[in-house]
Amino acid sequence: MHWSRWGDPAKARPVSDELRGLVEAFLGPVVERPSVELAEVELAPVALSDEHLAALGALVEREHVHTGHEWRVRRTRGKSTPDLLRIRAGDGADAPDAVVRPGSHDEVAAVVAWASEHRVAVVPFGGGTSVVGGLVARRDGYAGVVALDLRRMTRLLAVDEVSGTATLEAGLLGPEAEELLAERGLLLGHYPQSFPHATIGGFAATRSSGQSSAGYGRFDAMVLELRVATPVGELALGTSPANAAGPDLRELVLGSEGAFGVVTEVTVRVRPLPERKHYEGWRFASFAAGAAAMRRLAQELPQGRGLPTVLRLSDEAETAVNLASPDAVGGGASGGCLMVVGHEGTPDQVEVAQGRTAALLADAGGERLGEEPGTRWAEGRFDGPYLRDSLLDIGVLVETFETVTWWSRLDELYAAVKQAVEADLTEQGTPPLVLCHVSHVYETGASLYFTVAARELDDGVAQWSRTKRAATDAIVASGGSITHHHAVGRDHQPWLEQEVGPVGVELLRAVKERVDPAGVMNPGVLVP
Ligand SMILES: Cc1cc2nc3c(=O)[nH]c(=O)nc-3n(C[C@H](O)[C@H](O)[C@H](O)COP(=O)(O)OP(=O)(O)OC[C@H]3O[C@@H](n4cnc5c(N)ncnc54)[C@H](O)[C@@H]3O)c2cc1C
Repeated sequence: MHWSRWGDPAKARPVSDELRGLVEAFLGPVVERPSVELAEVELAPVALSDEHLAALGALVEREHVHTGHEWRVRRTRGKSTPDLLRIRAGDGADAPDAVVRPGSHDEVAAVVAWASEHRVAVVPFGGGTSVVGGLVARRDGYAGVVALDLRRMTRLLAVDEVSGTATLEAGLLGPEAEELLAERGLLLGHYPQSFPHATIGGFAATRSSGQSSAGYGRFDAMVLELRVATPVGELALGTSPANAAGPDLRELVLGSEGAFGVVTEVTVRVRPLPERKHYEGWRFASFAAGAAAMRRLAQELPQGRGLPTVLRLSDEAETAVNLASPDAVGGGASGGCLMVVGHEGTPDQVEVAQGRTAALLADAGGERLGEEPGTRWAEGRFDGPYLRDSLLDIGVLVETFETVTWWSRLDELYAAVKQAVEADLTEQGTPPLVLCHVSHVYETGASLYFTVAARELDDGVAQWSRTKRAATDAIVASGGSITHHHAVGRDHQPWLEQEVGPVGVELLRAVKERVDPAGVMNPGVLVP
């Protein structure tokens, strides 16, 4: 992962004349906004003492404790646009003092216990792709901050082919996990857009949802067992496919963002590798018409196995700039709204599912565009974030956020959020382009994923923080959730009490106090 951009440095693309022209037509004149060099990022001196570092070295071997400039910069914050803007400006104020890389559950447990005793804050660090400030620990009152990097923990620990389960170490990246499973003819099927650079532990810790969640389910729905190292000991959860042994405590760990402990092992349900993948495009006259068709799919097809594997619907604006195929700006399905529908499975399963879905979509007013738009989307499905960096280079701020609500409220939520974002940025003197797609559907509702582009003001962080406030206020006022899959982190925390109520917040605090009495686990993240 590049230290100040998304992904593989080899895939970074300079801004083409075409893109520059398009941006200027939509947003006005642009200016170059280069990043500082890696060596210019300013870091505070390492706060941890030599004794602290030696003690950590004794727990995980000295070669796995790093305090060098690049190690610290690369574990500073995550990959939200404000994170990128800060690091591009040379602001390394949130850098950890040390990066510690354990190789096993026992080493993680030892570090966590030691940190609790010495009041050192621990930030579990997976792929570092958080977009909600989940990697920015509070520093006050702590002897220092350690980034606990899980990327040495990359083993497939067990496979139960009879039951269809696999146990994975938390530091495996998405593609690494799929590769190990594929050797056994198996598939996990979790493909968030961050898939190439995010980890199994991160997926669990954020309740991630992927582009194929319609068919394969959200990540939290895939998790069967969890092994967690907390400051007060090990938590091992999940003994059976389903049970009535009190509240399901796995739910306390899923989405806990490192605030209660470190997820070290995750047992997931797996499926046979699909023999066939088929993606296609459909056009609907309007976003509302497309959403109504999606609702029919979600409610009329047999529950749990009827939905297509991939299902997403771009609104008119997103269809127009063709972010449904994020690799190519411009072109695309002309007019209306593009829906991408994908089916995966055996040839028979795909044929049956495709036919059944097509009949329903046609009946709901859709026009079949054939395989090309779907295949093009699938080919570029992980490339969109590279475009954000290119746009930041020419002073265009691009950020995304998401929410979810019941079908009955979807239209209202969409209109209110779009209006709030447009009004706020226009008031700031930078009228934006606001794009949206339905990214995930359920029988009872759907999630909306917004992409916003605007000319960057002198202080892009303050500019976006104001707009994000306006957007989240509008989400809450319209009955949406503050997050469908990005998690809470620090950025959504001010609205958490509105989401779960004061008693809900007290429950979270109580759990934290019991499992993390010294408050060293990712302080400031999730729990207010
Ligand atoms: C370009 C881009 C696209 C994205 N697309 C999607 C998407 O489609 N769907 C989606 O759900 N999300 C998406 N995200 C958000 C992000 O990728 C997810 O939240 C992902 O699950 C984070 O995984 P990670 O390994 O990078 O975790 P990190 O970013 O390293 O950590 C995320 C949080 O979890 C904690 N954590 C990490 N590992 C552990 C562990 N083992 N134990 C305990 N706590 C831990 C961290 O402390 C932090 O609070 C996207 C982000 C970017 C930048």
